[in-house]
Amino acid sequence: MLTDFSEKVQKVKSLIDAKGEIVIVSHHNPDGDALGSMLGLYHVLKLYGVESSMILPNAFPAFLKWLPDSKKVVNFFYNPAKAKALINNAKVLFAVDFNSPSRLEEMGQWFDKATGKKVLIDHHPFPEPSFHIAISDTDVSSTAELVYEFALELGGQDLINYNAAISLFVGIMTDTGSFSYSCSYPRTFEIAAQLIQKGVKVEDAQRRVYNTFSADRMRLLGYALEKKMRVFSEHNAAYISLTRKELVSFNHKIGDTEGLVNQPLAIQGIVLSALFVENDGYIKVSLRSRGQFPANKLCKEFFNGGGHINAAGGKSFHSLEETEKLFEKALHQYHNELTQE
Ligand code: 5GP
Ligand code: MN
Repeated sequence: MLTDFSEKVQKVKSLIDAKGEIVIVSHHNPDGDALGSMLGLYHVLKLYGVESSMILPNAFPAFLKWLPDSKKVVNFFYNPAKAKALINNAKVLFAVDFNSPSRLEEMGQWFDKATGKKVLIDHHPFPEPSFHIAISDTDVSSTAELVYEFALELGGQDLINYNAAISLFVGIMTDTGSFSYSCSYPRTFEIAAQLIQKGVKVEDAQRRVYNTFSADRMRLLGYALEKKMRVFSEHNAAYISLTRKELVSFNHKIGDTEGLVNQPLAIQGIVLSALFVENDGYIKVSLRSRGQFPANKLCKEFFNGGGHINAAGGKSFHSLEETEKLFEKALHQYHNELTQE
């Protein structure tokens, strides 16, 4: 745990004890940890006695809709006026699961301009210095884990009810690939156990998050693996790329490509996997790696992005074909790091 964790939480406590509006924001294309930490914090603050508003830059995947109070989240894309007003009026703005306003896309400029105090709770490396209080720790599995520690420090177990617990559990579960990576510390499992004591049903959470594919989504997965995956055994790498047209032909919904980038890592020997998805005006890039290979470094250098060592993302402003070529170039450049034991 961070050495100055208690002092930081005390500072946050005095901010939220003072009168005024509180908002919680998280990143564009929110994942399970983004929404899970946001809802977890919302429920913790509610039990502490303060109400807050939640705002996301765009929609979260349908497989997370069952999380308690997810309907209360304001979607900036659909309701910009409401989102802007909330951001402008906030006395405290919690930023969870991201550490640079650029990760909020268009909403970032409103966050930047906000005059309220900005509190970061996050586990990504290299946080921007613009936050008033930064609870930033890369040695935790997920932001949800850090929100749990924050709750304990703020007011103990009483601040965690079932609603907070299930939200935080889903954050940890999704960010660790169901406890298979980024969870080498016993503390992650201790916290998971405590959340189970609050009523979380593991099988239920698994089923609701992972076994909710539409038939179209399952067919898209099959198509992507069979027709669109290229394996570069000589570099221990692989990528999958999908055009907008292909997505449309599978009746694509937000979240349908979630997890797809992990699939090639199940091939023996593969150290780096990439997913390129055509969007309006750019190619969304996702990278996943094993061991010490720095996916974030490659992503920053080639794809205007960043992230964690084993999970990174970014954007390419080239065509899909050029993006694939760029990736092949990156594979040559990183050949030694990809092939070392
Ligand atoms: P994903 O591939 O799931 O979109 O992103 C994986 C991780 O990469 C995220 O948790 C986040 O840390 C990081 N990431 C994704 N997109 C971006 C981006 O555009 N810029 C930066 N700096 N990081 C990103
Ligand atoms: Mn996360």
